Amino acid sequence: MAKVAVVTGGNKGVGLAVVRALCKQFKGDVYLTARNSKLGEEAVEALEKEGLSPRFHQLDIDDPQSIKVLRDFLKEKYGGLDVLVNNAGIAFKVADTSPFSVQAEVTMKTNFYGTRDVSHELLPLIKPHAADTTPFAIQAPVIMQTNFYGNRDVCNALLTLIKPHGRVVNVSSMLGHGCLGQCSPRLQQEFRRDSITEDELVELMEKFVEDAKKGDHLKEGWPDMAYGTSKIGLTVLSKIQARILDATRKEDGILLNACCPGWIKTDLGGPNAPKSVEEGAKTVLYLALLPPDVTSPHGEMINEMKVVEW
Ligand code: NDP
Repeated sequence: MAKVAVVTGGNKGVGLAVVRALCKQFKGDVYLTARNSKLGEEAVEALEKEGLSPRFHQLDIDDPQSIKVLRDFLKEKYGGLDVLVNNAGIAFKVADTSPFSVQAEVTMKTNFYGTRDVSHELLPLIKPHAADTTPFAIQAPVIMQTNFYGNRDVCNALLTLIKPHGRVVNVSSMLGHGCLGQCSPRLQQEFRRDSITEDELVELMEKFVEDAKKGDHLKEGWPDMAYGTSKIGLTVLSKIQARILDATRKEDGILLNACCPGWIKTDLGGPNAPKSVEEGAKTVLYLALLPPDVTSPHGEMINEMKVVEW
């Protein structure tokens, strides 16, 4: 079966640059996904005019049904997934006057929960051979160790399909790292605790949104930035996911990392950002194309090609 790579939020910005680069460097099919099919198909057409051959699939990371449709498609057509780049993300503009509580909820919905839902569904697809032989052996320890929040049946089904040497890149941000330093000592300790589970992390993310809604987030030790807090969640989630892979599929050599693309000139990064989307794609590409014989980085936050101390 052909190898396959999927990029979320691929219709523009860093995601589009990652798709373009993967089309040139990845030996297999590359899927540009977008929540808006029209925008996604237009982006594919633009790349085709450059002589590249991306494929398209709709994916709204806020819509569980959309995630499941993509999962079933990948399972059916490719028997799994080789490279997953969780790139889709949102940020309110600095000048946006929406109340902080609204910014907190909306930002968290896409950047943390949406990405987490995609990972739950697609991460386990990264596996070709043992798909039909080891499902429960993989599922059971994962559930015991991490007590996954959400739709555990779906999670279990997907855990059987991770392909050996698969690569997963969660596009986070150094703003998450900066916001970690603005959290109360107790929160920092929680976010740095090696044994934190996904349930505990989700509880913390939920608490942030609740505190923001009550206007209590500063008093409760949170940073004054919803985007950065959502990216704290994504970076910690990546560390948890890597830990789960180690506990359940170590022999498959799957590498999963979070990264920051840098401050990039996109709709999200704004016109004053110093770097181009091609520069933004570099770190993502490096992690997506780590060769099969390497064992690190794994479970790290990478910025400018270097591991960031969390
Ligand atoms: P853009 O705003 O240019 O692109 C974001 C992409 O995410 C778009 O394709 C957008 O789709 C998509 N998206 C948003 N919500 C969803 C959703 N629910 N489902 C599917 N796709 C969605 O941003 P960038 O390219 O700058 O950002 C890419 C990633 O890099 C993000 O995760 C961002 O947080 C991160 N990042 C960016 C930095 C920068 O300086 N640019 C710095 C640090 C991190 P649509 O067109 O439909 O809105």
